[in-house]
Amino acid sequence: MVKKIILEARINEYAMRDENPHVPWTADEIAETAARCREEGASIVHFHARNPDGSPLHTVEAYAETIRKIRSKCDILVHPTLGWFSNDDDPEGRIHCVTNLAKDPDTRPDFAPIDTGSTNLEMYDRETRIFSHADRVYENRTDTLEHYAREFGRAGIKPVLVTWSIGFTRRAAALIEMGLVAEPAYFLLNMTDGPYLTGHPGTREGLEAHLQFLPRDRRVEWTANIVGGNLLDLAEMAARRGGHLAPGIGDYSYRELSCPSNEEVMRMAARAVRAAGREIASPQDVREMLGL
Ligand code: ZN
Repeated sequence: MVKKIILEARINEYAMRDENPHVPWTADEIAETAARCREEGASIVHFHARNPDGSPLHTVEAYAETIRKIRSKCDILVHPTLGWFSNDDDPEGRIHCVTNLAKDPDTRPDFAPIDTGSTNLEMYDRETRIFSHADRVYENRTDTLEHYAREFGRAGIKPVLVTWSIGFTRRAAALIEMGLVAEPAYFLLNMTDGPYLTGHPGTREGLEAHLQFLPRDRRVEWTANIVGGNLLDLAEMAARRGGHLAPGIGDYSYRELSCPSNEEVMRMAARAVRAAGREIASPQDVREMLGL
């Protein structure tokens, strides 16, 4: 039997509405979006809590409210962010929110991300040839990663191993080898396009390079994502190579498709992966596949 494909909806990140007006911000908007994406086949929703003006909102209460609202509407699995990165020396601070949410089964996240390395997060404008945010570093020290993996294991949260390049993948493989991340491990292979230079390009070659270095001696499931680029172009490749897909308007406005809503992106993704011969996984299928 062909393995089912997991569609993860990455609905908002810190996107504003200047390009795509459909980005959900409030708890109600996020919950409604999650339910509509679920109807189109998404089994996981990744989201960031936001204020009504779109600014980041990072409190346990906001995440708890959002998760309760999502779960009151549908059975989608929830994958909240760890929040805006900072360069402080407080690794506990960044996971405080999800480990607190995990104390109550009603608000326990099913997944939480671990970005398995540090990277520059500047933006480059090819027309003006100018960097902006040139001082921005997304710092994830290795002792912090070990701590996150241990704490998520204790809290019953499945880590999403977010890898931006091959070094991240090798470090993630080490965390599995150390017994800090259970198999099957769930990798998110991040690519970056547009103004973001830091990851593999969002092309077949960029994805292929990731795939070449996934640990072969471990049970691994992988999903693909592009920050700043059209992931639908890689949907067929991901489906044919046995992977999963994590699209959404949080990472890219899909302006060449007239800025669709998240559920419209999900519908297009579902159509593309079905055409490539894969059936869509339900949340229960995902629980079984990933050992939640
Ligand atoms: Zn995110």
